[in-house]
Amino acid sequence: MAKSFDVVVIGAGPAGYVAAIRCAQLGLKTACIDDWRDETGRSSLGGTCLNAGCIPSKALLESSERYLQTKSGLEDYGIVASGVKLDLARMQARKTKIVQTLTQGIAGLFRTNRITALAGRGQLVDSGRVAFTPHDADQAEEVTAQHIILASGSRPVTLGAAPVDGDLVVDSSGALAFSEVPKRLGIIGAGVIGLELGSVWRRLGSEVVLLEAQTEFLSMADADLAGQALKIFTRQGLDIRLGCRVTGIKTARRQVQITYQNAEDAAEELKVDRLVVAVGRRPNTDGLAAPGARLQLDEKGYVDIDEHCRTNLPNVYAIGDVVRGPMLAHKGSEEGVAVAERIAGQPGHIDYDLIPSVLYTHPEMAWVGRTEAAIQAAGVECRVGTFPFAASGRALAVGESEGVVKIVADAKTDRILGVHILGPGASELIAEAVVAMSFGASSEDLARTVHAHPTLAEAVHEAALAVDKRAIHIRNR
Ligand code: FAD
Ligand code: NAD
Repeated sequence: MAKSFDVVVIGAGPAGYVAAIRCAQLGLKTACIDDWRDETGRSSLGGTCLNAGCIPSKALLESSERYLQTKSGLEDYGIVASGVKLDLARMQARKTKIVQTLTQGIAGLFRTNRITALAGRGQLVDSGRVAFTPHDADQAEEVTAQHIILASGSRPVTLGAAPVDGDLVVDSSGALAFSEVPKRLGIIGAGVIGLELGSVWRRLGSEVVLLEAQTEFLSMADADLAGQALKIFTRQGLDIRLGCRVTGIKTARRQVQITYQNAEDAAEELKVDRLVVAVGRRPNTDGLAAPGARLQLDEKGYVDIDEHCRTNLPNVYAIGDVVRGPMLAHKGSEEGVAVAERIAGQPGHIDYDLIPSVLYTHPEMAWVGRTEAAIQAAGVECRVGTFPFAASGRALAVGESEGVVKIVADAKTDRILGVHILGPGASELIAEAVVAMSFGASSEDLARTVHAHPTLAEAVHEAALAVDKRAIHIRNR
């Protein structure tokens, strides 16, 4: 007999598992189908984010930063450390343990919320039916549902010129699992993954070269901050080559030889021990719906949805990386909550203009809203306030005074239109900007908010004051 639910979710990444939990909280009988298996073959909830994305990368970023600091960054603090050694196996084991704690945590949350976890593949048959094939089974079972949420996520884009072999040439998953530090590491793509994972291996001792197709560095970020970040990352030893087009690779004698056209269109060669391909991700739609379901995809291959995450099929929704918008865990999770609430008859809502972006490098970079250039291009007059961390007492005490806070406000209304931070704790500091902007704050509102002293958040306060040229701890221009 067919299993029957109010809601069936396909995919248990941060979009799908959050949707499932919220559905269950709202009293809906919910099942979540997911096909992820860990290296031991066991099913593991949490999708890309928990298993091979956000969490393992942040675990390695933290470990590698602590290693570098302890090895060569403590003298200024009056600490002399000697004999510092790298134990990569233990570093990787720590990462795996964190992943397991969290993925098992999701399994626990499913149990407490009485969500049925179905391990295997799901395929949308029509508006009310999903074919579920359990792991290691040949036959699909029918699962029926009043509502279906597609949350199948994404996978790395592949490059014809540099095919991944899982050994010398890897994608982000492979680059999270190296068992030894490559002497020379090549990375195609100086985007978020390239910079984060490049930082990890650079800190652990690799010579890292990033080959980036675009001539502009971090083109989605504020140009001033991107320029500063490029200088800092270059000083850290990341060799970032812009305007490069990889034309082919050859592997021989445990080395990868890369050929590429540089920014001047001259042919160049580069030999590395390992190569990471990190040129973006694409939506997982292969086999997601049976052809007869007639699920509509958009021109880029994402599941086509309206502003309420509704697909072209009645009662079928899609959320997360498999639909348009930034491929970020928190964006998918918020869509999951909103869809669950709509299914339950409540008004779910997301402000797509206020989704924060974070680059977990050192220093971190984070932003929300629009860049100064985008605001000006839209013909809106704006005022800008900046405050460097070099003038922050707390940043100096912490020993991390690189970077700046930049606030862009509407020149007429003073409403904050964008906040851009390069500096210590940017990933946490940006939350204040998101909250302020969610409430339609002006720079004056932030300027009149009391910030504790000495904190890094004072830099946000001072940048807000600087919009009106009344910052206290810098000269206002
Ligand atoms: P996914 O997390 O991809 O989950 C989809 C799940 O559905 C997977 O388990 C998949 O196996 C399963 N699935 C697919 N098809 C089927 C099917 N037919 N049947 C059953 N199951 C199926 N984002 C951030 O916000 N912050 C970060 O710091 C960050 N770091 C990242 C670092 C790396 C290295 C990578 C690769 C990504 C990172 N991301 C980060 C992006 C983030 O991981 C994704 O945006 C997020 O995981 C998307 O969530 P999702 O639920 O839409 O999809
Ligand atoms: P990305 O889009 O951030 O960067 C890919 C880079 O590769 C771009 O700069 C692009 O210009 C470049 N590129 C594309 N084709 C190329 C080619 N042929 N040769 C050289 N360069 C080329 O994508 P990503 O770094 O692969 O990350 C994928 C997704 O995962 C992103 O959308 C991101 O949102 C998400 N992610 C987020 C975080 C975070 O929030 N901190 C961390 C990692 C990943």
